[in-house]
Amino acid sequence: MKILAIGRNYIDHAKELNNPVPSEPVVFLMPETSILRKGQAFFYPEFSMDVHFEVELVLKINRLGKNISERFAHRYYEEIGIGIDFTARDLQSELKKKGLPWEKAKSFDGATPLGEFVPKTAFQDIKNINFSLDKNGKQVQFGNSKDMIFSFDAIISHVSKYFTLKIGDLIYTGTPAGVGPIQIGDELVGKIEGKELLKVQVK
Ligand code: ZN
Repeated sequence: MKILAIGRNYIDHAKELNNPVPSEPVVFLMPETSILRKGQAFFYPEFSMDVHFEVELVLKINRLGKNISERFAHRYYEEIGIGIDFTARDLQSELKKKGLPWEKAKSFDGATPLGEFVPKTAFQDIKNINFSLDKNGKQVQFGNSKDMIFSFDAIISHVSKYFTLKIGDLIYTGTPAGVGPIQIGDELVGKIEGKELLKVQVK
């Protein structure tokens, strides 16, 4: 399986990092080894001094597809979850400056903690899903899927032009504003509609 991730999908977050608002989705890939399953701790990597949290809604692909039209994209996922896209911001800034790919800063081992999933049918409107991240008991990020620049369906349509989607693939759909650094000893809790679905200890 593979993980596709979308960068700069919330205007407020693009602005906080002084990035332009994109006219098409910014896409990058993460390998299976970046996943941190429930209950696993995140070990602060030695190659960074500035790892940031980014909380994101995650789609789980449940059908094989390529060149999926936006109109039919909703048939390709039945569950929505929450995850963190840990980013070595210092390394990413260096790579960006040189115009190099981001993978070392985004796709390293353990960089994508993955929480539990919720069936799509549990939501009244998937264009209005509240989600949040708490750090040490204090809310640090809050987002709503209505503020995404590219909707779930637009993302699926776009990425499937380039990458065949397979059952079990994950799509991290971008982070809202409020990203910030973590430290050893922190506890991060991800919630959808107030329900705790993800917990990570930083060690
Ligand atoms: Zn991200």
